[in-house]
Parts: sequence; C-alpha cells; structure tokens
Amino acid sequence: MRNLLLLEDPSNPAKRYYTYVKNMAALVSHRTKHNGKTYVCNSCLHPFQKQETLDRHIPFCVKHDAQQVVYPNADDENDCTLQFKSVQKQHPVPFYIGADFESFLSPIDRAETDDSSGLTIIDEHVMSGFCTYRVTHHAEHQTPAFVYSGPDPMTKFYDHVMQEAREISRIVRGYVDMIPLTEQQAYDYERVEIVVVFLQRTTNATITTTT
Ligand SMILES: [Zn+2]
Repeated sequence: MRNLLLLEDPSNPAKRYYTYVKNMAALVSHRTKHNGKTYVCNSCLHPFQKQETLDRHIPFCVKHDAQQVVYPNADDENDCTLQFKSVQKQHPVPFYIGADFESFLSPIDRAETDDSSGLTIIDEHVMSGFCTYRVTHHAEHQTPAFVYSGPDPMTKFYDHVMQEAREISRIVRGYVDMIPLTEQQAYDYERVEIVVVFLQRTTNATITTTT
C-alpha cells in the first residue's frame, strides 16, 4: 500500500496534485513530544510509539470511517470564534448537592468476555456507601455532610436526595417577594433587558450589560 498526499492551492482550487508519502511517520511526527521512531495509523493518523500498540489499535480504528481534520475558516469570524451562549449558566444556583460514592471490587461469578473489545470482565464495582454535601450561600441552611455506609446504599441515597429536594423546595418557597425596585433601579433593569434581548437577536454574542 502506498500513501498519497493531496496538495491544494487555496488561491486556485482547480490546481491540485498528489504526492507520494515515503515516510508517514516523518510527516506527522511533529505532533508528539516523542523523539524516536513512530508507527502511524493510516486511518486516523495517530502516531504510536510501538508497532504492537498500533497493531492492537488498527482493528478498532477501521470500524470507523477514515478521519480528516478540518480547521475552522480563519477569515470567517463566526466559524473561528468560540462563543459563550449559555447565559443562564452565569447565574449562581441557590442550592446544589455534591455527592461522592465509595465502592469495592468484587469478583463476578463467571468471567465474561466482551466481544467488541476482547476484554474479559472479572470484577465489578459494588457500591458500599456515599457522602453528600449541600452547597448553598445561605449560611443558615448549610447542613453538615451526610455520610452513609451500610446495606443497600443506593436506596438510602435516593431516599436522602429526595428528602433534600423536599427540604430545599420548602426553603425556596419560603422566601418572600423582593422589595420593589426604586425608579432608578427599574429604569436600569429595563435598559439591561433591552440590551440583552437585542444582542441575543442580532449577534448571539456573549452578553455584556451596560447601564
Ligand atoms: Zn487509527
């Protein structure tokens, strides 16, 4: 098999020609810090340090179509600029719960081999306990971490989280309406709203507010 590289002239797309790639590793080697010889996958162009690693990779890689790297158009601002659009995620949430689970490895009764990966599964993770922590900026509603270790931890976890949900809903419902805005604040708020809506409709840009 011979690899060919297609060269194109961006200023004249009709002008293109193939050139023979004598040493694929040399062509793509600059992408890794590794100095020695590399073994390149012809399908995804990933360089490997060992022939055996490449040989193991190929059966998985050929299941997918050959890959081509396409870079954003540097002349098109919309194409080459990353934009933050999730404005709602800029607002802090009043409560959230962080959770961490503990588990141990337990041998399964009969080892199974997964046909697609060739891996033999001999152990499974068995959950043994968890810890949850309520995070809120309302200091009066901050509670200590909840730790559980014992039988049926998953049921215990759901029970605990549902209990937290009910408790937090009760707290949130209990907050009274905010104090009415002053005339100046109402005016500023209206202006911000207009800027936000205008920006969203016209540019999809990151929202900057001016008052
Ligand atoms: Zn590959």
